Amino acid sequence: MTDLTPDHVSADTLLLVPDVTLTPDGPQEGYGVVVAHGTFVGVGPAERLARTHPQLTPVRLPGHVLMPGFIDAHHHLTQSFGAALAFGEPSEIFRRVWVPLEAALDEESAFVATKLAALESLRGGFTTVADAGTRASVDVDVVASAAREAGIRCVLGLVCNDADDEGDAAGAVLAKAEKHLARYDGDALIHPSLAVSVPEAATPGTLRDTARLAAAAQAVVQIHVNEHLAGVERSLVRFGLRPLEYLHHVGALGPQLVAAHATLLTPAEVGLLADTGAAVSYNPVASAWKGNAVAPATTLAARGIRFGLGTDGTRGDAFRLVEAAEFAQRLMYGLATGDSSCGAGWTWLEHGAAGGADALGLGTRTGRIAEGAAADFLLVDVTGPEMHPSWDLPWELVRRGNRDQITAVFVAGRLRLWRGWPPDWDGPALVRRAAELGPEVVRRASVVRAHPTSEAARTRAAAPGPPGGAPVRGVPRVAADAPGFRSAAR
Ligand SMILES: [Zn+2]
Repeated sequence: MTDLTPDHVSADTLLLVPDVTLTPDGPQEGYGVVVAHGTFVGVGPAERLARTHPQLTPVRLPGHVLMPGFIDAHHHLTQSFGAALAFGEPSEIFRRVWVPLEAALDEESAFVATKLAALESLRGGFTTVADAGTRASVDVDVVASAAREAGIRCVLGLVCNDADDEGDAAGAVLAKAEKHLARYDGDALIHPSLAVSVPEAATPGTLRDTARLAAAAQAVVQIHVNEHLAGVERSLVRFGLRPLEYLHHVGALGPQLVAAHATLLTPAEVGLLADTGAAVSYNPVASAWKGNAVAPATTLAARGIRFGLGTDGTRGDAFRLVEAAEFAQRLMYGLATGDSSCGAGWTWLEHGAAGGADALGLGTRTGRIAEGAAADFLLVDVTGPEMHPSWDLPWELVRRGNRDQITAVFVAGRLRLWRGWPPDWDGPALVRRAAELGPEVVRRASVVRAHPTSEAARTRAAAPGPPGGAPVRGVPRVAADAPGFRSAAR
């Protein structure tokens, strides 16, 4: 519809009547929602809501689906300046790209990088992001402030590494962890959490104590687990156990854990997840772009293992994430077993919203269009040719939905984005500032890339070279002339 404007949906209390409302019981026609004080206070047949809320003028939303905002269960908000630096890179890029990049951030650049990532996420239909903990040497409250200003809900990780030289002593780490968990009491958008980069980055005592502290605070601990072959093998050599087994061994496996990636799982480890109630962030785009494997998400779903979907900062586009979630399962497992349905559409919508909220410990707070839940939702325009004739809305949203259909994004009952841009702050100015600051930060960081930029790769492909892809004379292995890049070959 063309005459709908932000003014129609900007009041503190709203009765919205879309064509279809995506509830936990499935798509409902003729439903409405009442939003007040940041939450859904009514969800049900629109006629009934109009009767019980006579003071409200119903806002009709023809051609729109009202659906839960997506939850990004794994992100690194302060890495946004380097998103494309990781393209084409082999695994474990955190060592060569992310750690140096985050180390080069100061307060302003960390703030702008976070707000840029938050804006991208909102544009992509995410209303919550889980930040796995910045390694920038700034107060993590910089990340909180930027997320809050952008208007996104944020599960904010505090890195608790204490096993290597960069980390603090265990006592200091735990004191900071306790403070962090109490720091955002009553905050409408910020939900504190703890984080350990990988199991080996914290001492066994700290792994156990962070699990205990988080569980007591009803928060989560985010840890990258069983992501890359190199990491699994390192753990086996060092501890005689795979990373997930090691977490179990030290007493850190439980419902408070969000195991990011969990791509390389043995059947026994799937059993450990099921038995302990630990949750997973399934990150299919990260697998495709920089991984060794794809988490067996259809198996996790069948076993009742809790999981959400995460981007890992690859791209903040929720419709492409749910599509990738299904697509990756189909290619990796569905083709091999003749499973042509692979979750039947609804699985990916559900885990992209309610499942992610549950994995992050926010299951009663967000992820559903239901009375009492935070009013975190999207208005999605389904008038285009891609969605008609409609036979199966969940499948259609997963396979044919696109972020340009998102008319409005609401978080905690407030309109945060209208047709891709914030109605109440200057989004384009932020993007311009990021375009200035980002290259400065990358120039300061000692980023090492193993893969050339796409232009250099094209030149190399065009020139006949020695077999095995060895560097061609005159064509650097990396864009060595690009500021901030150091060749891995050196
Ligand atoms: Zn990550």
